[in-house]
Amino acid sequence: MRAVTDAGRRAGDRPLKEPRTGGSVWPHQCCPAFTPRQTAMGIERECWYCRFADFHLKEQVPLDVGICCWPKKQLD
Ligand code: SF4
Repeated sequence: MRAVTDAGRRAGDRPLKEPRTGGSVWPHQCCPAFTPRQTAMGIERECWYCRFADFHLKEQVPLDVGICCWPKKQLD
């Protein structure tokens, strides 16, 4: 698992103006293209709950920092 630095945490607090396709996204970030997963229990507008984010949620250990895969859905 990748270590999250203080700089990374600060970056993760900033909202995004557009999808960060192919780039890193932090769980609490969000952009205007946010689309919630149908299976998500929460309704927070955060990359963590977005269909286009890959946080390895089907793996045993999810990623601290995910990848935005917009416009390819990763999970419904
Ligand atoms: S994962 Fe979703 S909310 Fe986060 S940057 Fe990508 S499209 Fe936007």
